[in-house]
Amino acid sequence: MTARLLIPVAALAWACSATSTPTASGTTSPSGTTTTGTTTGTTSGTAPAWYAAFGNGTTVTVSGNFVVITSNGLPDHKSPYYGTTSPQYEKYNGSNPSFQLNPNSIRAQTLTFRMPITPTKLGTPSPTPLGPIGVAINGVPIFNQYAGPNQPLTGEINSFDQYNGHPQQTGQYHYHVEPTWLTRTSREALVGVLLDGYPVYGPMENGVFVSSSALDAAHGHTAVTREFPQGIYHYHTTGDAPYINGSGFAGTPGTVSQ
Ligand SMILES: [Zn+2]
Ligand SMILES: [Zn+2]
Repeated sequence: MTARLLIPVAALAWACSATSTPTASGTTSPSGTTTTGTTTGTTSGTAPAWYAAFGNGTTVTVSGNFVVITSNGLPDHKSPYYGTTSPQYEKYNGSNPSFQLNPNSIRAQTLTFRMPITPTKLGTPSPTPLGPIGVAINGVPIFNQYAGPNQPLTGEINSFDQYNGHPQQTGQYHYHVEPTWLTRTSREALVGVLLDGYPVYGPMENGVFVSSSALDAAHGHTAVTREFPQGIYHYHTTGDAPYINGSGFAGTPGTVSQ
C-alpha cells in the first residue's frame, strides 16, 4: 500500500501563506515595544534614518543588531476587502475586467518584522517563504511571487484590489506586486523593506522603468537612490514576474512573527 498525501483543493485556494493559523508572538507588548527576542544584545541606538518612511501606526525600534517594526497590517487606503460598513470600504474601481473578490475580509494582525540593521549580502540568494517576506512603509506585509508552493500568481492576480493587494484566509492583507497606493505620487518611491534589510523601490529609476532583465537573480541591483546618495543594494517592483523579489533574499534574512 502506498501512502499518498491528499491536499484538499479548498485548502489551497487563496492560501498565499505557509501557515493557516497565525500564532501570537508573545514578545510584543500592547504598546508595540519588543521586550524579548532572539537577540541578547542591549537595545541601543536608533534605526537608520530611512526607516522614518514607515508610518500608518507602525513602530520602529532597534533591538540588538535588528530593526524591529511592528504593525497591525491594516492598509491606510480603501479597499473592497474592508467590510461594506467600514469607512475604509471602497467598491472595486480598478482596471481589471476579470476582477473577482476573494472570500476573505481584512482583519487586524499582530506582526513583528526584524531586519538586520546592517544587511549582509549572500553569495547565493536564500529562498523566500510563503507569507510575509517584508513590510511596506504603510505596515502592509509584502509576499513573494507565489500563490502557493511554486504556484504562479496567475489566478490570484484577479483578486487584487485597485491598490494591488488582497487578504488571505486569516484576513492578512498583503502585496505581491507594486503597491500602487505607495507609488501614486512617484513611481521611484521607496515602498518597503524585505526581511534581509534591503529596501524595495517602485518600478522606475531616473525617469525610466527598470526591467527585470536589468536586475539580478534576487530582482535587485546596486545604485544610488533618493535615500542612499552613496548607493545601496535594493529591489524594484516590476510589471512582470517575479514582481518584487526573484529567486530569494539577496541578504541574510531576519525574521517575522505573526
Ligand atoms: Zn496573496
Ligand atoms: Zn534601482
